[in-house]
Amino acid sequence: MKSIIFIAPPAAGKGTFSSMASKDYNLVHISTGDLLREEVAKDSDMSRKLTDVMNAGGLVSDEIIVSLLKQKLESISVGYILDGFPRNIAQAEILDNMLGELGQKLDYVIYLEVDKDTALSRTTGRISCPNCGEVYNTNIKGSEPREDNICDKCGSELVRRDDDNASTFIKRYDTYLEQTEPLIAYYKEKGILHSVDSSASKEEVYPKIKEIIND
Ligand code: AMP
Repeated sequence: MKSIIFIAPPAAGKGTFSSMASKDYNLVHISTGDLLREEVAKDSDMSRKLTDVMNAGGLVSDEIIVSLLKQKLESISVGYILDGFPRNIAQAEILDNMLGELGQKLDYVIYLEVDKDTALSRTTGRISCPNCGEVYNTNIKGSEPREDNICDKCGSELVRRDDDNASTFIKRYDTYLEQTEPLIAYYKEKGILHSVDSSASKEEVYPKIKEIIND
């Protein structure tokens, strides 16, 4: 049972590689961003609060994230990939405790390195299919949909995430530097950190991720 987490700035490829690796290694893909977006779509008081935090590029409270995640982790009996969690040291410590109680441990922490300009360009070009989840990027050659704004796979109209704009990106990136980047040292010390240069195309980067997981 493999367990993997990705640490990365916004739009470095966590979602893409989590999705590819979950299929190849039969792992459950848990994206805290997706769990939150599902909550937001419910249009409740809670969803409005979440929207405000997410559109401001901040982090949702640890309590909310942990309650969403705990239900998921308890129900999993195969391996999993955590995409977007932990996002700060407090969450990493909570995860250590949760896994300890479940008698589990983390196998690989994969840090996707990408420079700020590349991440910004990927963020502002990202569009995805609300129906099948396929992700496209109009700023990356070869990643555009064949027909403008239409999903190649299922024909649905593509959408842009509310937080995928340049001004929210700047705040998300600052939040990453302040709160998430310290996790690199945290996991390096535990000896489970692997760094991958994620600035190239996904076809070039993914084999390096597989090498780590196959090890
Ligand atoms: P992502 O889809 O991973 O880019 O996450 C989108 C947004 O959801 C982030 O900018 C945060 O506002 C929120 N979010 C996702 N994961 C977490 C987390 N582990 N802790 C707090 N907020 C989160």
